[in-house]
Amino acid sequence: MYLQKRVYRAQRNSDKGYILIIAEKPKAASKIAKALSRGKAIRKTLYNIPYWIFEHNGKRYVVASAVGHLFGITTNIRGFPVYKYKWVPIWETESKASYARKFYLCLKKLCEGAIEYINACDYDIEGSVIGYMVIKNFGDLSKARRMRFSSLTEEELITAFKNLMPSLDWSLIEAGLCRHELDWLWGINSSRALMGAVWRITRRRIILSAGRVQSPTLIEVVRRDVTRNTYIPSVKFKLEITASYKGSLISFTLESENIKTRVEAERAKRLIEREGYITVKKIIEEYKDILPPPPFNLGDLQAEAHKIYGFSPMNTQKIAEDLYLDALISYPRTNSQKLPPSLNYTKILNQLSRNPQYIDLINLLMLETGGRLKPHEGRKEDPAHPAIYPTGLRPRSFPSKNHERIYDLIVRRFLACFASEAIVKTGKVIVKAAGYTFSKSFRIVKDYGWLKYYPFYEIGETEIPPLKEGEKIPIAKVKVITIYTKPPKALTKADILKWMEQVNIGTEGTRARIIETLFSRKYLEVKGGRVKVTKIGYCIADVLSTFFKDLTSVELTRKFEEYIKDIRFNKRRKDDVLFEAKKTLDELIENYKKSLHDIGITLGKSLNIIPVSKKCILCDNEAASDKLLLCKHHLLAYENLLKSYDEWRKIFTTLSWKDYLKKIIRLRGSCGKWVREVAQAIYEGKVEASPLNTRSDNQ
Ligand code: ZN
Repeated sequence: MYLQKRVYRAQRNSDKGYILIIAEKPKAASKIAKALSRGKAIRKTLYNIPYWIFEHNGKRYVVASAVGHLFGITTNIRGFPVYKYKWVPIWETESKASYARKFYLCLKKLCEGAIEYINACDYDIEGSVIGYMVIKNFGDLSKARRMRFSSLTEEELITAFKNLMPSLDWSLIEAGLCRHELDWLWGINSSRALMGAVWRITRRRIILSAGRVQSPTLIEVVRRDVTRNTYIPSVKFKLEITASYKGSLISFTLESENIKTRVEAERAKRLIEREGYITVKKIIEEYKDILPPPPFNLGDLQAEAHKIYGFSPMNTQKIAEDLYLDALISYPRTNSQKLPPSLNYTKILNQLSRNPQYIDLINLLMLETGGRLKPHEGRKEDPAHPAIYPTGLRPRSFPSKNHERIYDLIVRRFLACFASEAIVKTGKVIVKAAGYTFSKSFRIVKDYGWLKYYPFYEIGETEIPPLKEGEKIPIAKVKVITIYTKPPKALTKADILKWMEQVNIGTEGTRARIIETLFSRKYLEVKGGRVKVTKIGYCIADVLSTFFKDLTSVELTRKFEEYIKDIRFNKRRKDDVLFEAKKTLDELIENYKKSLHDIGITLGKSLNIIPVSKKCILCDNEAASDKLLLCKHHLLAYENLLKSYDEWRKIFTTLSWKDYLKKIIRLRGSCGKWVREVAQAIYEGKVEASPLNTRSDNQ
């Protein structure tokens, strides 16, 4: 009580002032205040927002919090292109951000009485920008320092506080500002370009959005979707022999090249049946080491949580951020697959072993390693943070079952990376019959190694039968199997994330959110866990990739991604990057403007504002061919259908056009949807087409 009064009076008089520590979120602020004051900080509120006061070594400190970004970019210039912008309070740019107003006012007030500032927001480009904007607008940048930490444990916060950076982390701030400003320039100009085209033709204001990382991602999803929907399988034949061995049946499939025609397959079948037995030629046995997986970075965690529990990348990220704020795990927005050598692994394992769930596993790990803990790491690095690891702090209770699952996944992955490799015995039995070679593979786990700690992999074990080389086994059955190749599977959100990682666009912290934007804009939707493109999604992707080809290319997106990275490492300046970006945008927009009329009409039609002159007989889209009345997509499917008929006829020897169509219609899992729709329409006589009259058309 006495302390509280004294601190409050001192603050009011502000004769001496205090040092203001700025955290990114209230929960982090509370943790920081508690750790640095050894639990003695006093909680107060201003505008209903909590902040904390404490004294340390004769100095007074106030810990207050932002709530993510408090500033955003806007412009009051209409039309496009637009290159002039300013940073304003976030709620002026996002209607949903009104919750930030009180935090903004609270920090503004507290900055007034401060004599020094410490940016203690999360240590990455976002956190650096959040703290910088507050100090720049309300405080004094020349009196600011940066606190760096990777987890919110007391120990780490105290160490970080003792080792403050003497000034702000300027290269990170510049890189962060550059990313925001580039994204804004790209987003506003390409979105306004789309909306401007619609306005010009229809005088309607329709919200359409495009973005620097968002648009190349949409275009890729659409490209894969079109490939899938227009897919026609190729056909091959395989032979399968079932041999009866001591009362049980073993199946062998044809090795090497598949048989190309049905006739050839049937002939081989007869020859093998006539021979009546198989001869064991060779048994190959091998031991394979499977190395432990590296500790998680965010992308790997998102992929595993999706594979094991079906979580969306955004959901996983949110949960991981909650666990971080509870000081249970280290900072999750990391690309690193490495653990810092300075980390006290033994201490963390000791702490984790207080949790009854892990005690047996940890005892086993200590026994197996003899206490020599060396993590198996991956290649990926992150300059700001290590891989995700459990801090050892014991969770009291989890907000949800899913939080517990993600936490468990992180703990087990951490344990697994210290364990030994798993050893799998693989076997391959090679047999011959009538000159053809067949084989069967077996695998059996000899030592589970790290799989004991991280049991989320299906090995699919089958024991090798005790066959001997030279042994002859009677054949029970020979089967000709027709194999239709399969189209690529419809994507999941996790697949999109993986693609973005592979082509290196976006950052680990932003990818999941960018994917969600494509869904909230209704360009994509999820059905049965798989991603589908909507009508407007196809149209936006089409317009962007036709008229804004360079702007939405992966190459250009990646180039600027590299530039941002260069700024972070002081190899490039923000102003130079923005200058080049504006120049690039200007050229591309000038070019785009030439086609504004056509784009407006295309968009107007697919938004159902302008009536289409002729509709596709299979969907609502405009017919791309007058003669066939099929839209662009169905026309592509039609062309593929004709092309493949020639191939299929060679394979099946005799295959009438009607039988071909029937087969296509029935092959639901192998043929694309648009292809089957077109085949059905031809079969029913709704579309005039046969390979013969098409050929005469071409002549
Ligand atoms: Zn159509």
